[in-house]
Amino acid sequence: MERLRDDRKKPQIPAARFYKAMFLLFLCRLPSLQALEGYRCQTPLRRFLRGGMPCIDQIANVSETANLHDLRTLLQGFQRQLGRNKVLRDFHGHRLAVVDGHEINCSYKRCCPDCQQRELTVNGQKRIQYYHRAVIFQLVGPGFRLLLDFELLGPHDDEGTAALRLVRRVIAAQPRCFDILLGDGLYPQARFFKLLRQHRKHAIMVLKDERRDLLKDARAVFTSAPTLCYRKGRTTYRCWDEAHFTSWDLYPHGVRVVRSLETHIPPGTTTAVAREWIWVTTLSKDEAPTRHVVLFGHERWRIENEGFNELANYWHANHYFHHHPVSIAAFWLMLFVAHALFHCFLRNLQPVRRRGHSLMHWAELIKAEFVLGLWYFSSA
Ligand SMILES: [Zn+2]
Repeated sequence: MERLRDDRKKPQIPAARFYKAMFLLFLCRLPSLQALEGYRCQTPLRRFLRGGMPCIDQIANVSETANLHDLRTLLQGFQRQLGRNKVLRDFHGHRLAVVDGHEINCSYKRCCPDCQQRELTVNGQKRIQYYHRAVIFQLVGPGFRLLLDFELLGPHDDEGTAALRLVRRVIAAQPRCFDILLGDGLYPQARFFKLLRQHRKHAIMVLKDERRDLLKDARAVFTSAPTLCYRKGRTTYRCWDEAHFTSWDLYPHGVRVVRSLETHIPPGTTTAVAREWIWVTTLSKDEAPTRHVVLFGHERWRIENEGFNELANYWHANHYFHHHPVSIAAFWLMLFVAHALFHCFLRNLQPVRRRGHSLMHWAELIKAEFVLGLWYFSSA
């Protein structure tokens, strides 16, 4: 998918101008290529682009032949720099990463050869819906995160297969960027655990399939009193933690299961909300005590909140900027670049200047600087 195909149209604009245009698209939070084209006559943009704004067709054509390897290499460079600058830091000596799947968009009308499809019943009629899903790899540290890589599912892929490709690629390119992989209830699969242990990495995955012998065995053991109770803020934790479970046929090396019953009292209320979490992990108790496994397990939510939700609600990532498999991956990887730069910029602002302003306030100022030439940051 990443290779150029000879039958594709030749780029009509220099690659540098194309990447700058895509960078503008995301950094200015524009919803579409049409919106970007609407700024063709803006002088500050012409200066930035060193030429005129490409038209929609030019951007779409070039995006189909974008070099995804180069975009991934750029993000890997960010990761190394953020690590050197102590921006992306460890959690209690561990580097955490999250992998999760996401459906980008769906349609009954528009499709490409790489679309996945499903049959749905609408108003009593069976219809074929076309959609794309992708798997995303995010590094998470205290106070910062980096969306590092993206893998589009092929027409016949399942999420696990694409995620395995993605994790293999990340390990090959940056073997030291993480040592614990977090995943939801889809990821306690032997193929992930074997791959991770082969590279001396660990997994913490949500365990929620009640049909599994492993979960049945863990529940049978967790009937006694909790092994650890503690309180943090408005949440009380009661935890059970047992190792050496060997009832997982496909991964009989012994795993540890941690259960956390959490009672949280939301601010402004007196009603407690109870939730149960169970994780399966390859970490020993010496490598991560119960409290740390619970803390790490909850970091998985950051790919939902800081990843998918932010990208869909504030970066217009819930549609295709151009419907082509290479273009979709290129736009998302470029989005990751813009997302990383934006959050680095915010992090470097003095707290006194940042206070009281929303993320969108700064996004609008950046847009004003690029599009209208209001040099707020350079003159302030
Ligand atoms: Zn498609």
